[in-house]
Amino acid sequence: MQCNGKKALVTGASRGIGKAISDMLIARGAEVWGVSTKEPDDFAQRQSAAAGRLHWASADLSNLNALEALIDGLIKESGGFDILVNNAGITKDNLAFRMTLEDFQKVLDINLTASFLIARTVGRDMIRRRAGSIVNMASVIGVHGNAGQINYAASKAGVIGITKSLAKETASRSVRVNAVAPGFIESDMTAAIPEQAREKMAEQIPLKKMGQPEDVAELVCFLASDASAYITGQVIAVDGGMFI
Ligand code: NAD
Repeated sequence: MQCNGKKALVTGASRGIGKAISDMLIARGAEVWGVSTKEPDDFAQRQSAAAGRLHWASADLSNLNALEALIDGLIKESGGFDILVNNAGITKDNLAFRMTLEDFQKVLDINLTASFLIARTVGRDMIRRRAGSIVNMASVIGVHGNAGQINYAASKAGVIGITKSLAKETASRSVRVNAVAPGFIESDMTAAIPEQAREKMAEQIPLKKMGQPEDVAELVCFLASDASAYITGQVIAVDGGMFI
């Protein structure tokens, strides 16, 4: 499960699940390039705790036309990534019949299209070097759907689609591509749900609680490391048994 000497690009690393992934990769020996809309307030503290093995790029991933140049720059700066974690994501919930085209497209742009463009750019370099692990952040909603989240469900189903397709295209060059499908995890994303509704949802989960960002990070770090060398094209849930 160690990632000594590996270089990782983690999107959405400023908080929540992405922060837990970034911290855990660093603790296991990796050097991390984090990306998020803006540099986190605690960046200096995190960088010093990481003994310099944390770098940052602030960028809006919905700016799709600028993405490949941004990622190419980071590949040059790092010397090439061994690990990519496509984690950044948003929700803009509404019932299908009330959803604006703008909100539908925005979620698709950030959750799916940006993930595709980043995976393609980093994957191209990994293929050249005949090594690498890409982990895409899906969701159980992408498998099962959810009322009020038609845009989010479509984006995460798409993430599963690009994961399996890319895994087939890159396996012969020793580049692995997997997806993680979290269930109901404590973060800013779920903090917006009223307390009573959160308690009710947690009660319906067989393990009777929400997951922590670290629960997801453990699986991501496993998939990023050589310990999972024979696993590719998979979608693995971290959901407390929500969909048994
Ligand atoms: P969060 O809102 O706490 O963090 C999202 C991260 O993405 C932040 O770092 C934010 O800056 C970044 N981001 C968002 N839009 C961006 C943009 N346009 N450009 C650059 N960065 C951007 O969310 P989280 O709960 O930590 O979720 C992380 C991932 O896990 C997402 O893909 C989400 O869909 C997925 N997920 C979360 C849950 C959950 O219950 N929290 C469940 C399933 C899947």
